[in-house]
Amino acid sequence: MSEVLLRASHLTKRFGGLAAVNDVSVDLWRDRIHVVIGPNGAGKSTLTNLLSGDLPPTSGTILLGEHDVTKSSPEQISRRGLGRSYQKTNIFLPFTVWENVRLAAQSRAPQQPWNPVRWLQDASRDRSVNERAEKALELAGLTARRHFIAGAASHGEQRQLEIAMTLATDPQVLLLDEPLAGMGVAEAERMVELLLRLKPQHAMMLVEHDIDAIFALADHLTVMVNGTVIASGEPAAIRADRGVQAAYLGE
Ligand code: ADP
Ligand code: MG
Repeated sequence: MSEVLLRASHLTKRFGGLAAVNDVSVDLWRDRIHVVIGPNGAGKSTLTNLLSGDLPPTSGTILLGEHDVTKSSPEQISRRGLGRSYQKTNIFLPFTVWENVRLAAQSRAPQQPWNPVRWLQDASRDRSVNERAEKALELAGLTARRHFIAGAASHGEQRQLEIAMTLATDPQVLLLDEPLAGMGVAEAERMVELLLRLKPQHAMMLVEHDIDAIFALADHLTVMVNGTVIASGEPAAIRADRGVQAAYLGE
């Protein structure tokens, strides 16, 4: 039996008069991939930002393991074992793949302002940081690319690097916003394989548009429209739901 690692209950986020996320509940289980889909503006990124602590909810609660993290900072949430990637990348392009992963391992809050040279010097002295980085590189399938300059890597490799950087903080819960965005068929297949490899160890929530990937990956599918969950459950049942087809899948 797998375990619930994150439990978000009745989350609402208002921006002025707009409920970008409206009474949404999500459970994330280890060894299960929860995919969130919906048209642009549905509230998918806002939901991700609530779970990672990048935005405070207007109401509702978030439990990470045993801990109530509803009011915690992104840094505290990261330290408690939640890792996320961003739609816009945090990769430092002039550095190598390895250096980027090591920087991410050094900082459990990679979105903070930082001094890369200083951090690299510190990181080289810290064995646990190196070990975490090494493990993340291997999990993400990038060991052979470690000496590549990140800016010269292919789009697919940069997205893999983003995952490696997220893994470098040693998270149990992974939130990935459109991990397949902009990928060709072969790159997308490689990313699907990578995510399936990560699944047994992690509870994952993905925001994704790629229909083939959604149905290859999802153990649980949630459909959002205008901030509200219109359907949530087994992918096959969601696919057959006429309301969902009309609202989103366009089948
Ligand atoms: P999605 O990721 O599903 O495309 P978003 O979560 O980005 O949707 O946005 C949901 C809604 O909230 C949109 O109408 C968007 O314009 C609005 N929104 C998102 N972020 C903000 C913000 N910081 N301030 C005001 N409105 C926002
Ligand atoms: Mg979005």
